[in-house]
This record gives sequence, C-alpha cells and structure tokens, in this order.
Amino acid sequence: MNFKSLPQLLDHFKEESTCKEYYAQIRWNGEPACPHCGSLKVYTTKRGFRCGDSECKKDFTVTTGTIFHNSNISLRIWFASIFLATTHKKGISSVQLALDLGITQKSAWHVLHRIREMLREKSPQMLGESKMVETDATYIGGKERNKHLNKRRSRDNNLLTNEGKAYKPKKTVIGIIERDGKVALKYVSGETTQNMVDFVTTHVPQDATIYSDEAPAYHQLKKYYTHDNVKHALNIYVEGSVHTNTIENFWSVLKRGLYGVYHQVSDKHLERYLDEYSARFNTRRLNSQERFEKFLVESESPLSYKRLTKLS
Ligand SMILES: [Zn+2]
Repeated sequence: MNFKSLPQLLDHFKEESTCKEYYAQIRWNGEPACPHCGSLKVYTTKRGFRCGDSECKKDFTVTTGTIFHNSNISLRIWFASIFLATTHKKGISSVQLALDLGITQKSAWHVLHRIREMLREKSPQMLGESKMVETDATYIGGKERNKHLNKRRSRDNNLLTNEGKAYKPKKTVIGIIERDGKVALKYVSGETTQNMVDFVTTHVPQDATIYSDEAPAYHQLKKYYTHDNVKHALNIYVEGSVHTNTIENFWSVLKRGLYGVYHQVSDKHLERYLDEYSARFNTRRLNSQERFEKFLVESESPLSYKRLTKLS
C-alpha cells in the first residue's frame, strides 16, 4: 500500500472489510485485545469479538473504545476525513468536508472534533533538540476596541459594547516553538508571568536558550534559562540568533486558518483547534501516509457526541 493522494487512499480502501483489517493491524498488531479489560483471550464472533475472560465476557469490535466508536460513518469516509484534515495546512471546515465527502455538515462537524481529539498529544514531548526555543503570545478573535465598553450587562451577565452587542474579549494563546522542532500551545487567561513560567518550564528542559520579546511576562524566565529578548519597541526584530520569527510565522498560519477556514472559534473549542494546528505542524516532515498512520495509532480515544455537544 502506498498512497499520496485522496483518490489513491479511496482506491486502496474500497471495501469496509479492508479498512477494518487494516485498522485491526494498526490497533492490535494482529492480536486483538479486549478494550474493556485488556485480556488477550479473545474469540471471534459473527459481529466481531468476545472477551474470553470469565469476569468480562464482553463483546467488542475493532472500533470499540476509539474515535470511530458508535459512528454511522463508514471507516472509509473516516479515513478520507483524517487524510483531508491532516494534509490541509490551514485545516478544513465542516461545510467543506461535508461537500467533499457527501456527508451532512452535522456529521462532518462531529467527525472533525473527534479527529481533533485524536490529534491531541497525550503526553507532550519536552522540546529541546536544537536547544533554541522561541516563546510568544498572540491574541485570537474578540473586539479590538475595549475602550468603548458599556456598563450595562446582558441577561446572561456579559458586558455590552456601546452598540449593545455582547463584548467578546480577545483570547490569549501562548506558544513555544523549537527552531527546527516542535510547537506547543496553550489557551490561557492572559500573558502573565505565572502563565508563561508554568508553561515554559513544563515543556522546555533547562539547558535550552529561550528567545522572546521584551514583555515583562518573560523576565522571570532568566531564573530558569539562558534568556535573550528582541527589542520590538526599538524596532529591532533580529539580532543574530535573537529573534522570534519562527513563532511569528506559526502565528500567521494559525490565524489565517482560524479566521479564513473556521471564521469563529468558541472559547470552549479553542484548545481543540490549537491541538489540530500543532499536530499538523509537528508532523510536517512526514509524508501524507506516514502522518495518516501515525495519527491512526492514536485513535483510541472515545469522545461521545454528548460530551462534545455539552462543550458547544
Ligand atoms: Zn474483557
């Protein structure tokens, strides 16, 4: 099997049975394990498998306990969705995915959120191979002119703007990017010292050098790292290796995607979209098939529709 494009993928996965065999191989490496108790004593049944553990005896299929569980979308369409969602640099909207694959927008929305769940790095790897790390904050959405706030509040207690519309503050996202390496992102309450220090020290080993701008939130990083900052206020953006261009390039892809493809992202879902953008960036050196397989390995993560809609 070798696919570089969507038609090649769909050609290979013509039959649902081919998809199931392939996924069983990826998930279990040929030896089915009960997703309820982990037992390897497993019988094949007409509809799938039955656990042979005397205390469990539960039935399951290859998709039980994965992002594909209880879905009325075929694995073939799921695979195509994963391919599209992970190869489009700026992401794909549920409207577009629905049109491309002939499913409803509601299904496409559900599929994309489950894929984002799959893309979340369960145990984020510490950065630090090149030992040169840039950190920065950016602001997503919201209203620029918060000076014109009205003291009135709406029925759900949101502040109103002078035009009477709900005031939406900008959302702060902080990021760390290693030059030639990975990115890690977090949606936070603000660009504060505490938020920056907690985030950076979680992801970056102490022997790294950190580059940032001159904002006060970064001053404390000197306690933990070699830290150098560019003086944007003096219009100095690059001084030798001291710059934050790598993360600024990343912010521009993120924003073009969030504004251009997804238009508006609610507070509750922002983290998921950040997972999606960082996952694509962090696998940018893999080819389409390698990337597809890497993510399928991580698809054991059920996310119920109920949980998702509760979030929305
Ligand atoms: Zn079992």
